[in-house]
Amino acid sequence: MREYTNGETIIANIPYVAMIVMGASTIAFGFGLTLSAIWGALSYGVYGVVGVVWIMIFLCPYCAYFATRRCPCGYGIISARFVRRGDRECFAPKFKRHIPVIVPLWLIPTVCGIVALTHSFSWWLLGLTFAFVLNSYVVLPFAAMRQSCAECPQRDDCPWMSNQAVASLRNVCLCGERNREIT
Ligand code: SF4
Repeated sequence: MREYTNGETIIANIPYVAMIVMGASTIAFGFGLTLSAIWGALSYGVYGVVGVVWIMIFLCPYCAYFATRRCPCGYGIISARFVRRGDRECFAPKFKRHIPVIVPLWLIPTVCGIVALTHSFSWWLLGLTFAFVLNSYVVLPFAAMRQSCAECPQRDDCPWMSNQAVASLRNVCLCGERNREIT
C-alpha cells in the first residue's frame, strides 16, 4: 500500500475545500449578501473547519491509516499529534456515530440554494448551486472512493463501503485484494 506525497495530500483536499467555499458562497450570494447572509456563510465555513477537526479527533484514531502517510488527505498524521490511537475494531461504530455530524455540510447549501432560487431566480445562482451539488455529491465522494476507500484495509468493516454502488467499485480496486493489513 503506497504512501501519499505532500502534493497528493494537497490535491486530495481540494474537493472538500471547494465544497466549503462554494457552500459559503451559495449561502452568502443566495440571500443577497445581507449581513445575516454573510454571517450564515461564515458560520458554515467555521462548521466546515470544525467538521474536519471532529473527524480527526473522533474517527481517525480508530482508522488503519492513523499516524501514517497512507491517509490520502493527511488527517491521520495531524490527528496523531493530539489524539492517542484507538481500537481499530471500533472503526465501524465510530464511523456511524460521527459521520452524521458533518452530513449537514452537504445539505445546508443545497437547501439554501434551492430556497433562494425559488424566491429570486438567477442563472448565476443556479450555476453556483449546481457546481456545489456536482462537487459535493459526485466529485468529492468519487475521489474519496477511488483514492482512500478503494485501497483501505478497513473497507469491509466500513458502513460507507457497504452499499451497492461502492461494492461495484471494489471490483475495480487497484489490486483486488481483500482484508489487507497494514504492516
Ligand atoms: S482515511 Fe479517513 S478516517 Fe482514516 S485517518 Fe484518513 S481521514 Fe481519518
